[in-house]
Amino acid sequence: MKHLNIIIPVYNEEGSIVLLVTSIHNVMKEIPYSYSLLFVDDGSSDNTLGNIKNLLPHDSTIHYISLSRNFGHQNALKAGLDKTNGDCVITMDGDLQHPPELIPLMLKKYEEGYDIVYTIRQDEKNLPFFKRKTAAFFYYFLNSISEVKVDKGSADFRLISNAVADILRSLTEYDLFFRGLVKWAGFKQISIEYRAALRSSGATKYTFHKMFRLALFGILSFSTRPLYLAVYLGFIFSLLSVLYLPYAIISYYFGYAISGWASIVVTIAFFGGIQLMVLGIIGLYVGRIFMQVKNRPAYIIKESNIL
Ligand code: UDP
Ligand code: MG
Repeated sequence: MKHLNIIIPVYNEEGSIVLLVTSIHNVMKEIPYSYSLLFVDDGSSDNTLGNIKNLLPHDSTIHYISLSRNFGHQNALKAGLDKTNGDCVITMDGDLQHPPELIPLMLKKYEEGYDIVYTIRQDEKNLPFFKRKTAAFFYYFLNSISEVKVDKGSADFRLISNAVADILRSLTEYDLFFRGLVKWAGFKQISIEYRAALRSSGATKYTFHKMFRLALFGILSFSTRPLYLAVYLGFIFSLLSVLYLPYAIISYYFGYAISGWASIVVTIAFFGGIQLMVLGIIGLYVGRIFMQVKNRPAYIIKESNIL
């Protein structure tokens, strides 16, 4: 019998653990796979871990890893991935926004020979307006500057075969962005659509800051194109300043060079701004190289019942 691992990163999701476990068991009843659930507690400060541990004596399918602090969703996913080795892996959120009812269809596609079955969130009407718009803009922007295309509405709800999981496990990349990495990995891929449910309990853990970080790092790890911006800007403005030269000479010739004070100030301020921006872009990449060479682990495990 084939074995399915379900990885669920949870950060302060005490209210949905039991519900989620029940609905997964319900769905898996009819499926001829052995399976286990792996909760990755991402440094929760509520009773998430306690609620998981309460289930352990009655339920041998449940496993957990608890990280030493909040490492973020993507790193929690990596932690879970590193500790599994079944035939296939499904990752899903712990707030029931990813319907377990989709699992049979994902497994069916896997049986048909697909290595990656990823999901696209449909019917975004019940998501907050702001989230919808920022997400739409992010995917548009990422896809227009990056070599790897990520579908709009893709989520970290997907099935991957062990072959793909092995590739993802082997990555030691700083700041993982699984939505991009899975696309990058290649293999036979297919997408299926689903409707996002409302959060079963608690509030979103993706604060604006975290969302922005994910978006920015998604772009930085999949594209070096922002660096070209520096080159383009440099080129355009050196051209412009060459055009400015005749004007300066003529002004001098006619003797009203002193009136150039305003334009000098404007030019200095303008170029100062451009230079700062370009330095900033380069700095972001250098910063990432810095973090990468330190080669720190993506997560630290505090305790677990599988080690
Ligand atoms: N999550 C996590 N660490 C974090 C933030 C979120 O493990 O730092 C988990 C969270 O518990 C949930 C999943 O990642 O299971 C997706 O987060 P959330 O539902 O808050 O995001 P949204 O659905 O609002 O995009
Ligand atoms: Mg959610």
